[in-house]
Amino acid sequence: MEEAAVLYVVPTPLGNLGDITLRALDVLRQVPWVAAEDTRHTAPLLKYYGCGARLLAAHQHNEEGAAQQVIAKLAAGESVALVSDAGTPAVSDPGARLVARVRDAGFRIVPLPGPCAAIAALSASGLSEPHFLFYGFLPSKAKQRADALRELLTHPHALIFYEAPHRILETVAALAAAFGPQRTLVFARELSKLFETIHGCPLGEALAWLHADANRQRGEFVLLVSGAPAPGGDGEGERVLRVLLDDGLSVKQAAKLAHAISGTAKNTLYEKALALRGG
Ligand code: SAM
Repeated sequence: MEEAAVLYVVPTPLGNLGDITLRALDVLRQVPWVAAEDTRHTAPLLKYYGCGARLLAAHQHNEEGAAQQVIAKLAAGESVALVSDAGTPAVSDPGARLVARVRDAGFRIVPLPGPCAAIAALSASGLSEPHFLFYGFLPSKAKQRADALRELLTHPHALIFYEAPHRILETVAALAAAFGPQRTLVFARELSKLFETIHGCPLGEALAWLHADANRQRGEFVLLVSGAPAPGGDGEGERVLRVLLDDGLSVKQAAKLAHAISGTAKNTLYEKALALRGG
């Protein structure tokens, strides 16, 4: 641990209690104070890990006051660990305002890497976009949600949403309505828990998958959507190319026609067609 008093930002498990890092355990066992989103939730966790720290409440309704308490502890030379109920504090969780106040007060913040539902879900999604946009929770009201999704419609990066079980059906319906049936939706449900499920399908099939088994609608969800295909870009060109090749056209003819239809460079399509035929 560091010499001077610092605020540690400590991720905690999403479900499986084994998902705590050695460093997080070290910090939680040594700090005199833990600032927690819900002290009733964190108390048994600290007990389980053998940590004797005292708890401070730091939730979304008292973050400013909690920040002052934390600053007072740090000023007295006592380090504090900030935790949320699960995963990484300040990621769709309280913590950001407290961290900002503590930094403004001149104290060091030390973030510990660790569990985060978005990153765990992304790692198992199979989505290959080089970039992603973490959105978190969509608005709960239908109109605001549709407006938010409209703004994301042409976004080329993979999109990551959080959702609670009671809204999963309406949110998936809204995603399909906004983005159309073809883009891929990956469900990452109950990560690190007994009923962990990772399932990817076209958005047009996603509601049917949820309805096929009521258990699939239960638990915590990360929803990932593949990015928008570039207009006239490789996505559209490749789609057309595949159709033409499947229809029996030669590599040369398929590349030529796919270029005429999609506008994707002819050389790119020709090479792609050779690779597809070869495969
Ligand atoms: N700070 C947390 C993190 O680092 O991921 C997120 C907290 S946010 C209040 C809770 C949301 O995270 C849930 O509604 C769900 O979307 C997602 N989440 C949390 N645990 C999850 C899990 N085990 N499986 C899937 N999603 C989870």
